[in-house]
Amino acid sequence: MTGVGPRPRAFYVHLPFCVVKCPYCDFYSVVERGEPIDEFLGAFERELASRAHGLRPETIFVGGGTPSFLSIPQTERFLSALHDHIDFTVIREFTVESNPESVNVEKVRLWRGAGATRFSVGVQSFRSAKLAFLGRAHDADDARRAVDSLREEGCNDVNLDLMFGVPGETPNEWAADLREAIALAPDHVSAYGLTIEPGTEFGRLHRDGVLCELDESTWCEMFDSTRATLSAAGYAPYEISNFARPGRECRHNLVYWNNAEYVGVGPSAVSYENGVRRRNVAEWRKYVAAVRESGHAVVFEEALQADACLGESLMLGLRLERGVSRTDLRARFGIDIAERFAEEIVGFMNAGLLSADGDRIALTDAGRRVANSVIEAFIR
Ligand code: SF4
Repeated sequence: MTGVGPRPRAFYVHLPFCVVKCPYCDFYSVVERGEPIDEFLGAFERELASRAHGLRPETIFVGGGTPSFLSIPQTERFLSALHDHIDFTVIREFTVESNPESVNVEKVRLWRGAGATRFSVGVQSFRSAKLAFLGRAHDADDARRAVDSLREEGCNDVNLDLMFGVPGETPNEWAADLREAIALAPDHVSAYGLTIEPGTEFGRLHRDGVLCELDESTWCEMFDSTRATLSAAGYAPYEISNFARPGRECRHNLVYWNNAEYVGVGPSAVSYENGVRRRNVAEWRKYVAAVRESGHAVVFEEALQADACLGESLMLGLRLERGVSRTDLRARFGIDIAERFAEEIVGFMNAGLLSADGDRIALTDAGRRVANSVIEAFIR
């Protein structure tokens, strides 16, 4: 199933369990505890053995779901399985996603002892009303305690996830959230605008006319102030929603944005290996049944054609501050994007949404505000 090329250097694990289901979340995650998680871990061990044994990644990203939600014995079992099958000799970054209410010194010690270098904490806000609206299970003090626990255990690579653009939120309230986050001196900040996705609780409320999105001009004001505030505080933007102190960019996520290959395991996880994209079944009980039967849970597979792959590389690369390089893309696909997408590129340049600087093509400030609609134009 893995083909013949060298194996990818990036490894993703999806642990789908959370303490609550947030009403805006469209990641595959479920509220379970205890035995079901043990049952899942049995299947996970099997998938790991059949699909990732001997993998030698440079980056590991354990996401979800809420990996920090696993109990101490479950965390130990998970980490032991990881070490049984994954070769850690060239690891440069090992990220664990977490939520404030489930981070404590004991768990951090376990993860750190197993090689975790980087922790991402789902803070979202420091304001009680906003946290309640977002259905979060923590408060601002939990977030501060979580960061304290990470620092206490010597973790010097901490990301805070924040969210702006909640209905009714004012630019001043968002500015206060940013100030609180900066006061915790993280190494990296991810700041995402709330999007209302179909299939989520917010999606249903929006469809029924109960929930309205924030107006566009307030959203844009917050988007622009995020960049200005974080840049002034020493966090350089390197992707539309991601800001880092020098050298603290997330290596694993850069693999995705550079459209490079990776292996993913766990429910709903996607892999991209030897030009083939595969996706695991999402529902965790189906995942367990599939892995028990065949050692894997892949339900979708497609070989990416060069054209589709070029479009995706553009779509992902344009999210980066430095944009894309014509030379790099020509070397990879044998196509000059300035010729293939001449009409789109010239159109967006004339509209002030894209800039071309020698070899590189990147979004402008105005382009970043409407990034999705610019980026979609390159998907054929
Ligand atoms: S904690 Fe994260 S993964 Fe879990 S439901 Fe909330 S947003 Fe989704």
